[in-house]
Amino acid sequence: MHAKKHFGLAFALTLVAACGGNETTSSTTSTSSASGTGGAPATTSDSASASTSTSTSSAGGAGGGGVADLTVQTYQSDVAGPAVDSHLILGSKEAVLVDGQFFKADAAKVIALVNASGKTLTTVFLTHAHPDHYLGLDPIHAAFPQAKVVTTAAVLAEFKAKSAATFMYLKTSFTDQIADALTTPEVLAGNTITIDGQALTVIEAPHAGESGSAAALALPGKKALIAGDVVYHDVHLVLGECAWQGWLDNLTAVKAMGFTTFYPGHGAKTDATTLDADAAYIKAVVPIMDGAATAADAKAAIKAKYPGYASDFLLGFSVDNYFAGCKKAP
Ligand SMILES: [Zn+2]
Repeated sequence: MHAKKHFGLAFALTLVAACGGNETTSSTTSTSSASGTGGAPATTSDSASASTSTSTSSAGGAGGGGVADLTVQTYQSDVAGPAVDSHLILGSKEAVLVDGQFFKADAAKVIALVNASGKTLTTVFLTHAHPDHYLGLDPIHAAFPQAKVVTTAAVLAEFKAKSAATFMYLKTSFTDQIADALTTPEVLAGNTITIDGQALTVIEAPHAGESGSAAALALPGKKALIAGDVVYHDVHLVLGECAWQGWLDNLTAVKAMGFTTFYPGHGAKTDATTLDADAAYIKAVVPIMDGAATAADAKAAIKAKYPGYASDFLLGFSVDNYFAGCKKAP
């Protein structure tokens, strides 16, 4: 329970204030445990239900004849925990990794995935400045020191503004389950990352939404998008940044781009129908949270409406953060 409070708070915009103590959130955390999301850190360390999947993304012919298809392998951490994805894009010789996990144990699985690929990791790309995507970057960078860790200028600015306090706060709860240091990304020069001569194109989210800033990576041919947390797939969306309208606008913007395959930040590879599903979730869940008397009531109502969605863990801190900083006054 105690650890979960810290994890939830880390995502709140009021994080720096929370770092000095926040008794209000303690009470909402007590109610959250009653909804069955307790024990998340220990569960997450057990990677038995974590998964790795491989799929081939068509280059769509956009690059002309003779362009080899890129392959995407995904490591998703335990669905009882953050259920967060790291996507490994593989060319014929090189590899690019997108996002770096929360727990050290999961970062180790990503390192093993890269090693098993037999490719040279050239670049690690961070989609946004949330700790479930960046805390594992330090051990990953240590394992592959030749790889550049990069992100956009906007994401780096958010990382620099929030990550030190977030890290300090999480370290008190998760101690040796998370890395001992942060790796700060560099700003990517230009808006492409090259893998074996093919360009992956960075697409920045136009609005603050799931996070303040976010970026995705388009595979050649623009049929497939490594979407980061603009897209969740059958995993509870984290609505703790009070920018749900911006998230809806981002989903609309992405939908207009015409991608047909999505590698989400949380959940399995999917298609464009998930953009509508995510929008529907936001439109349904925000009124539930605004109307609920307590966080526990909101969690129960959301679970009843979305019984098949993974990660009570994410639901817990989504609702706790929403109640702490976003909920409309009654
Ligand atoms: Zn995330």
